[in-house]
Parts: sequence; structure tokens; C-alpha cells
Amino acid sequence: MARTAALSPAEPDRNCPLCPRLADFRAQIRAREPDWFNSPVPPFGDRAGQLLIVGLAPGMQGANRTGRPFTGDYAGDLLYATLLEYGFAKGVYQARPDDGLRLVDCRIGNAVHCVPPQNKPLPAEINTCRQFLIATIAGMPELRAIVALGRIAHESTLKALGLRAAAAPFAHGAIHQAGALKLYDSYHCSRYNTNTRVLTPQMFRAVFAKVRADLG
Ligand code: SF4
Repeated sequence: MARTAALSPAEPDRNCPLCPRLADFRAQIRAREPDWFNSPVPPFGDRAGQLLIVGLAPGMQGANRTGRPFTGDYAGDLLYATLLEYGFAKGVYQARPDDGLRLVDCRIGNAVHCVPPQNKPLPAEINTCRQFLIATIAGMPELRAIVALGRIAHESTLKALGLRAAAAPFAHGAIHQAGALKLYDSYHCSRYNTNTRVLTPQMFRAVFAKVRADLG
């Protein structure tokens, strides 16, 4: 589908049509759950922050329902607890967008803004939504560190930065220099990854401990 010139270059329209499959899915969920957010989920946090966290896409019961990244499902429990522990958030995370939680020196976004069926965006959808990830990165003048949660976020972030995937292969705990930025890789903090112990809370904390030590 042709891109719509009327769309904001920074954030997608609430009815962004650029990924037809995701737009159809969004319409189905709106009909079924009219009280949910059910729109492209914008980044959350401090545009002047030094740290950007890039997830995969809104979770059905999480950001797609509440409208705030990683809010309302298991992945948010681990992510926000870790951000609070390392001083990248203040307040109490209560899994609601009105819980008053504030990010400190930090912003959270996703590689894909709309909830995909089975949590699996198609390559074309990841490529299409990258323009908004690029805009998020470009809109953070103090950015020094990006934490990519999972391989898809890692690869889309590399492309957003104009780097080849072969130059910086994904590995949990890896740190890649990307010009003036550092890109930190972590397995995604999904319930599946933690239940299978692909990612333990200790492994996740170690990534943010390193970011904190580097940023000071
Ligand atoms: S995933 Fe991104 S590009 Fe695709 S429809 Fe949603 S906001 Fe638009």
C-alpha cells in the first residue's frame, strides 16, 4: 500500500493504514474490545533521555489495551521493576497508564507500533514501521544508549541506525558501538522467555547494570 503523505513523520496516525494486515486486526479488536486503546502505541518517557529501550510490538493485553508500552502484562512487571532498581524510573508501577510512574533519563518504544496477531509482525510490517522508530531516535538529542529487547528489535534498530546486521550480530549481553551510540542486546523480557529461563531476572538486570555504569 502506498504511504500516506498526510501522516505525521514522528508518530503514526491513530488509524495508520500502512500495514493492511495490522490495520484489519486493529479494527477487529476495536469491535471486540471498544474500551481498549487499540491504536499505534506511542513511545513513553523522556525525549531528552540518554537511554532508549526498543521492544518488539505492543502486547495484546499490555500496551494495546492500556496505551503505554509494556504496561499491563508480564513483560512490564520485569521491565519496570528493573528500571526502578537502576534509577531509570521513579514511582510505583501499578500496570496502569495513570499510575504516576515516571521514566528518568529514559524512553521506551517498540519496533512495531501496532499489536500483531500471535505477537509476530511480518518482515514487511517491521520494515514499514521503522520510519517511526527512526523518528523516535532522531527526536532524542541526548541519546547515548539503546537497549534492544530481542533479535527483531535489535535488527530493526541496526537498520534504523544505517548499520548492517552482519556487523553487529544479536547476542544477549552483547554491546555494539554504533557511531556515538552504544547498542545493548537483551533477550526480550516476555513471560515465555522467563518461564523457560532463556532470560532470568538476573540476566536482565545485568544488562541495565551495565547501561547504568556506562551512563553514570
Ligand atoms: S505497525 Fe506502524 S506502520 Fe504499520 S500500521 Fe501500525 S503504526 Fe502504521
